[in-house]
Amino acid sequence: MERYQRVYAQIDLDAVKSNMEHMKANIGAATKIMGVIKTDGYGHGAVPIARELEKLDYLYGFAVATAEEACSLRNGGISRPILILGYTFPYSYEKMIQEEVSLALFRRDTLETLSRTVKSLGQKGIDKKAKVHIKVDTGMSRIGIKPDQEGLSFVADAFKTPGIEVEGIFTHFARADETDKTPAKQQIALFCRFIDQIREKTGREIPIKHCSNSAGIVELPQANMDLVRAGITLYGLWPSPQVKRDIVTLTPVMSLYSTIVYVKEIEAGVSVSYGGTFTAPERMRIATVPVGYGDGYPRGLSGKGFVLVHGKKAPILGRVCMDQFMIDVTEIPEAVEGDRVTLIGRDGQKQITMEQLGELSGRFNYEFACCIGKRVPRIYIKDGKILDTDEQSQDF
Ligand SMILES: *Cc1c(COP(=O)(O)O)cnc(C)c1O
Repeated sequence: MERYQRVYAQIDLDAVKSNMEHMKANIGAATKIMGVIKTDGYGHGAVPIARELEKLDYLYGFAVATAEEACSLRNGGISRPILILGYTFPYSYEKMIQEEVSLALFRRDTLETLSRTVKSLGQKGIDKKAKVHIKVDTGMSRIGIKPDQEGLSFVADAFKTPGIEVEGIFTHFARADETDKTPAKQQIALFCRFIDQIREKTGREIPIKHCSNSAGIVELPQANMDLVRAGITLYGLWPSPQVKRDIVTLTPVMSLYSTIVYVKEIEAGVSVSYGGTFTAPERMRIATVPVGYGDGYPRGLSGKGFVLVHGKKAPILGRVCMDQFMIDVTEIPEAVEGDRVTLIGRDGQKQITMEQLGELSGRFNYEFACCIGKRVPRIYIKDGKILDTDEQSQDF
């Protein structure tokens, strides 16, 4: 459609499902799996992805980073369990309890405030508990209680606090995506020992114990436990270049397309874009692509990146601007205004991956996906057909 010609991200929901199935096939039948869809599903669109994944009955639920992300899933009709992985600020506790969203617990004041909120909701006739997953710091030094005596008494207090339901306990790997799994194995050992100590001290078994992220799911089966948290792999992207490629099959979910809007010839000695960082050594044919860093396409690709036109590589000339950049089509004489430009994805025999562009631009692939801008409409593909269109693109 013409309104998507400037730029659009094509999100392949069939690929999301296939990636989830491959991750599920790599864990034991007793282990549940949740989809990590923070930052709007790593930039792919949290609600459409959650709606697609919710059809899989083995899926436990979803993980997000903020109360707002949890609300947008509930508003989008998502009813499976949702866990907020980070710290949740108290202004949202009432809402989170009502929406049955589970929170990561690691601060004493959270315990007290949650308990008070449950009580005051009870006085209004709303009979709901605050569900929490205790976060344990086994090596990230980010959030979480320490797996020590003080940590144990924190857990014991959480069990005793009225209105609190300790649904889960979890930790997070700092280095599971590296070839050397020693640090990750140390984290697993610390976490398991702490769980044993909780059992010994309180006689209680916390129902959902979880540890693994994508790298763990692929390479550390001993970390599976009751639940795993699959993030980056759902989007067909790899946690790091060190993670083995032959254990699960992943299909990239996002492609990014644009259209050539202008083609011209420039003489030798003519410079291209801001700063004149590229000067034509000879007569050249160049094309303008109406996408820029305002769309999240990195300025770091200036003079380094490339796109595909008619299945051929067209290098970026000079600096990427906020809304446009120029490419060399001297070797692609068939390129004309209106032709499709592939920024990420496949065109004929050639493919550009987010990993490749991340490496070229010095941007981590996770970050690359998250940074594809709001200005870029997302077009969803399901069973090979266009499913849904982003509302913003209807805005004019
Ligand atoms: C983001 C995140 C994940 C998912 O990690 P991936 O590497 O994308 O699979 C899992 N757990 C926590 C706590 C996270 O913050």
